[in-house]
Amino acid sequence: MKYFDLHCDTITELHKKIEPLKENSLHISLNRAGCFEAYTQVFAIFIPDTLRGKAAVDYFDEVCDYYEAQLSQNKDLIAAYQDTENRTSQRAILAVEGAAAAAGTTDGLHHLYNRGVRLITLTWNGDNELASGCFSENDTGFTPFGREFVKEMERLNMAVDVSHLSDKGFREVASFAEKPFIASHSCCRIVDNPYAQKRNLTDEQIKHIVSIGGIIGINFCTAFLGCDENDGFEAVYRHICHALNLGAEKTLSIGSDFDGCNVPANLDRIEKVPQLYSYLLSRGIDKALLDDIFFNNAERFFTKLLTD
Ligand SMILES: [Zn+2]
Repeated sequence: MKYFDLHCDTITELHKKIEPLKENSLHISLNRAGCFEAYTQVFAIFIPDTLRGKAAVDYFDEVCDYYEAQLSQNKDLIAAYQDTENRTSQRAILAVEGAAAAAGTTDGLHHLYNRGVRLITLTWNGDNELASGCFSENDTGFTPFGREFVKEMERLNMAVDVSHLSDKGFREVASFAEKPFIASHSCCRIVDNPYAQKRNLTDEQIKHIVSIGGIIGINFCTAFLGCDENDGFEAVYRHICHALNLGAEKTLSIGSDFDGCNVPANLDRIEKVPQLYSYLLSRGIDKALLDDIFFNNAERFFTKLLTD
């Protein structure tokens, strides 16, 4: 099978633990991802809400150096998605989780672009220079700078990611965005716990992303799936069916959140993803539809955005 994953925190964690991407103790390694016929991974550099201004930029640069070193050490295995000359079967898209890495300036955004970032999750849980996150104590939606930032991202053909954004922020970006945007790692708001109620997407939000031709990555986090350690597959099935009932056949994808959250025991390593695929097949989801969810939908979106 082919696998396209819209979000993981593996690079951020590897940098902390000083472990290599090729093989390590984490959820994702390039060696273990060799089980896929083709594999594209969005690697997020996570910016904590405690870092702002120059501190956020410096931290981004440090982790980005690590990312570049890992890619150059594994040139035979993996290359940047937008590198159309070097067609390895494994491909990487660099992302930032938390636009504070741009330090509130357009020059900062251009710096991220020049370092290879092609997807930005606009906020994490709190507020930043752009907008309020989903756990903001005073949800004020977008700032004027945040609106300009999204426009400039669209001009640069970068993927605008609304996972972690507040509900007010979502309504606003839905009204001013001119290109399709994505929710890289968000489930459906069908789970009754405080995290899922803030982080997952409402039916209205899912229908909007469907209508604009965006992409939604189902997150493997147990809190967002609303499952315990042992029933992860069934929970993923529930979320996929819910989104499919809202017309998300060409919208659904996977955003595992590997190395960024607690995941079910049967989904705690990338090489277990094919078992999830088999389970969903056994529950009656059509193979062509599963191939769209696990690879084709995201591939179509990013090919158009990054390599057209
Ligand atoms: Zn996240």
